[in-house]
Amino acid sequence: MSRPRKNRSIFEPPLFSDFKPVGVFGRYLKGITLRLDEFEAFRLADFIGMTHEEAAAEMDISRPTFTRLIETARKKVAEMIIEGKRLTIGGGEIHFRNNLIRCSDCGHIFRININQNVAECPVCHSTRLINLAGGFGHGRCCGQYFNQKGGYHAKRRQNRT
Ligand SMILES: [Zn+2]
Ligand SMILES: [Zn+2]
Repeated sequence: MSRPRKNRSIFEPPLFSDFKPVGVFGRYLKGITLRLDEFEAFRLADFIGMTHEEAAAEMDISRPTFTRLIETARKKVAEMIIEGKRLTIGGGEIHFRNNLIRCSDCGHIFRININQNVAECPVCHSTRLINLAGGFGHGRCCGQYFNQKGGYHAKRRQNRT
């Protein structure tokens, strides 16, 4: 029996999940998928500028695992830019610690803890809200994984992979 692999910790969902070159029909392009754990590795190291050590701790994975993730992530982003591949973000064994909500009426985007629920936009009070974690098939699963403070529920804590 293999040990269950612990899901990787992602701060919040990406704002965008699909990228393609302008002026080319998607069906003519080769597709590539950037997994959510690769996205997070890329964000932490190359956008925020964390060291591999810091970023591995943030995702609660080992440093070698982080290094593999950042290498595949960079390769995929490079293929998108250089070869014009269509890049879609999704998948990976992850859970989100926070959620992002986008208001369909005023466009306001705000962050809530993954366990929180929100009924209306704090700016325009619209109830037409888009739940970005839900768009990646997450939400309730993450809430069972992380507590209100973004830490793990004790019984789910397992060794780092
Ligand atoms: Zn609004
Ligand atoms: Zn989840």
